[in-house]
Amino acid sequence: MNHQSRQIHVGSVAVGGGAPVTVQSMTSTDTRDVAATCAQIDRLVAAGCEIVRCAVPDADAASALAFIRTHCPIPLIADIHFDHRLALQVIAGGVDGLRINPGNIGDRWKVAEVVAACRDHGVPIRIGVNGGSLEKALLEKHGHATPEAMVESALGHVHILEELGFDQVKISLKASDIRRTVAAYRLLARQVDYPLHIGITEAGTTWGGTIKSAVGLGVLLHDGIGDTLRVSLTGDPVEEVKVGWEILKSLGLRERGPVFVSCPTCGRCRVDLIAVAEEVERRLRDLPEPLTVAVMGCAVNGPGEAREADIGIAGGEGQGLLFRRGEVVRKVPQAEMVEALVEEVQSLLAERSAG
Ligand code: SF4
Repeated sequence: MNHQSRQIHVGSVAVGGGAPVTVQSMTSTDTRDVAATCAQIDRLVAAGCEIVRCAVPDADAASALAFIRTHCPIPLIADIHFDHRLALQVIAGGVDGLRINPGNIGDRWKVAEVVAACRDHGVPIRIGVNGGSLEKALLEKHGHATPEAMVESALGHVHILEELGFDQVKISLKASDIRRTVAAYRLLARQVDYPLHIGITEAGTTWGGTIKSAVGLGVLLHDGIGDTLRVSLTGDPVEEVKVGWEILKSLGLRERGPVFVSCPTCGRCRVDLIAVAEEVERRLRDLPEPLTVAVMGCAVNGPGEAREADIGIAGGEGQGLLFRRGEVVRKVPQAEMVEALVEEVQSLLAERSAG
């Protein structure tokens, strides 16, 4: 399926309706610590974060968010649970988006006040259903947090906003279990055209969570589901952004920085390829320009992949054959392979920017 979503805007960033799938993250600092939060946002932005969310648990955090807004170069979303006064406060403070579930706010007049403020300030709302915090009535009805229960919860929140004539909405349906998350999004995608924020929540620490996120988000994105994503990792949120980008790059959905191709090595390899590949990746990974770099072990598959890449090197007997855009540049001794490849990349990028 290919979910055809309508488009909304979070600040200056379009979400849905054919816009590029955006990479989001959430700060892990205490939001009230403005300096620490702004410093973390700077690191997230440098890594490619396009929308950032901060937790707003109390009025002090809501006040801090107004300062953070003046510093933050990308759209800023406030994550609020239950308290509609906090929502009103952050909207007045200039926030670009809210993550709040209207069904949890309580009295309808409170929801109506939040919706009116969102409408006045052009602020969209993300409804975020989490399998771990579903409404009791739905858990009783469905037995546990099934995909159907998650979708019913989301539609309940959507309905409240639609009754108030508000449609600047995106929806997430997160569970820590991949199959359940995928099933829930597929079910929802058949029923609504709101943009979908996708993620595997509480995916785990950086290593395991990266794999779970890549599998889950990969399935969804390949299905054509997902307008914006957040990778959730127990670790530095900068890693979330990097992983999000790698997922999008691996599916050819976005371009940012190098795509690395390297072989697993085998008994035919006559150079220390692992060291070369790791060093090449370390030297080039922070380049913002999109390009493909191949580091291959031998003449079996090496020249083919190296030729396909923008810059590639294929190992031989203690040396490598350097390629640029499919053409052989020269033979390089093993000790100079990294340097020669990096220089060739720099020369290609200089040529690109000049032309
Ligand atoms: Fe082995 Fe050569 Fe393939 Fe690398 S490119 S895995 S060294 S056959």
